[in-house]
Amino acid sequence: SLSQNPSLQRLQNQAKVLGKRIADHHVSLAVTGLSKSGKTAFITSLINQLLHARDHADLPFFSVVAQKRLIGVKRDVQPDMTVARFAYEDGVKHLCSVPPRWPESTNGVSQVRLLIKYRNQSGLRRLLSEHSTLTLDITDYPGEWLLDLPLLEMTYQQWCESFWQDLHDVSKSKLAEPFKLGLSQIQFQQPADEMQLQSVSQLFTDFLHDCKAAGFQLIQPGRFVLPGELSGAPVLQFFPVTPALLAEYSANKHAPDNAVIGLMMSRYEQYQQKVIKPFYKQHFKRFDRQIVLVDCLTALNRGAHSFNDLRKAINWLLGSFHYGKNSIMRRLFSPNIDKLMFAASKSDHITPDQQSNLVMLLESMIHEARQQIQYEGVETESTAFSAIKASQVGLSTLNGENVQVLKGTNSSGEAITLYPGDVPKVCPDQAFWDNQGFAFPQFMPMSQPQTQHAFSHIRLDHVLEFVLGDKLE
Ligand code: GDP
Repeated sequence: SLSQNPSLQRLQNQAKVLGKRIADHHVSLAVTGLSKSGKTAFITSLINQLLHARDHADLPFFSVVAQKRLIGVKRDVQPDMTVARFAYEDGVKHLCSVPPRWPESTNGVSQVRLLIKYRNQSGLRRLLSEHSTLTLDITDYPGEWLLDLPLLEMTYQQWCESFWQDLHDVSKSKLAEPFKLGLSQIQFQQPADEMQLQSVSQLFTDFLHDCKAAGFQLIQPGRFVLPGELSGAPVLQFFPVTPALLAEYSANKHAPDNAVIGLMMSRYEQYQQKVIKPFYKQHFKRFDRQIVLVDCLTALNRGAHSFNDLRKAINWLLGSFHYGKNSIMRRLFSPNIDKLMFAASKSDHITPDQQSNLVMLLESMIHEARQQIQYEGVETESTAFSAIKASQVGLSTLNGENVQVLKGTNSSGEAITLYPGDVPKVCPDQAFWDNQGFAFPQFMPMSQPQTQHAFSHIRLDHVLEFVLGDKLE
């Protein structure tokens, strides 16, 4: 019979191997955002939703689930042994503890690999085999690191100039007092004193941390506040000197008394070559899809300076997705990202009637950068979501009218009910900041009633559909 014909059988085997190769495919999904934007909670919930997706998750907009084509999801060994493993189990343990707690934020790169087995729906894959497996690598990395990309195109002198320019902001300038004092004590005419440079670098680093604590978001250089494995390394020990010192330096370049500035320059260059570039080369280049989390609500809560700085930082960060011919990204790193999602996180802090405002607000923050990116052929989308829903919606009456309110638990464990306020549809002007009380407390996570069920969320299925839907057809 035909099936006993050896050459036909070989052909069939080859077709099977080929089919498997086409059927088994791979996507590298990157998740970023400034610190505390919700990356850890998001990835923990995403893994949790996928692991439970077939039977016990609530993902009506995720088509592979809605069409009942998902066969199973499991974790696998991550590909890159040099990168930390994303601490999924720890996160779940925190969320399921009594009382529940938020997972601890990560502050470097971490990774997880999932295998998603599903029934093919269409096209070539269906013809070749009934099932496919998508290997999904998720990489978590600090958005702060993307803020460093523009530094690759700045000299040390330019960086110093922009730093001192920035200090025209009165509140920042105040925070910089200790650093300025330390700087003024350096004897630039003397050979460099390594210990003194270390302590002034520390004052500079402290200043960056203080800015962050005060709600500023555009912090540079990014590794100074989130050093990852570079904590304490000399490549993170430099600081910007004043324009006056720079002018003196360039007027008198060859004098022997330029040791300090010379050293600062070389460390700055090392930072560019050994810190900024390797991140893009080792990680960024490999990403296929990217999610950028933006915590608009906490910034609104903290006031104008925080919100405006967040907007600046996000637009700055989006420079890493400008792929135009002459962009620094294209020239240096040939990136591959084809889909980019902007996601406003923690949307359980506002009532359902405000969700669409939050998306509009996010869009108004990133409008220009997004147009640029779309023009360059990357598909983009904005959404609002909550990774771990920590509030419930109720109704209350205000001046005789029904209004939606939120019920949750605050950090002291007390049950609270509140109306958090209206989310502005566009980036607010001064009048908003003068009049509006936009305030909400941090919610603690809700207790998990059934452990075999996935965590409650808001719109995570939309996120999943955008970043993975087409890969699971
Ligand atoms: P990361 O630094 O970007 O990894 O941020 P995390 O994921 O650690 O989130 C920081 C904090 O934001 C958490 O400790 C929570 O307090 C809060 N958070 C994150 N996601 C949510 C969410 O979906 N809902 C609520 N209510 N809070 C969240």
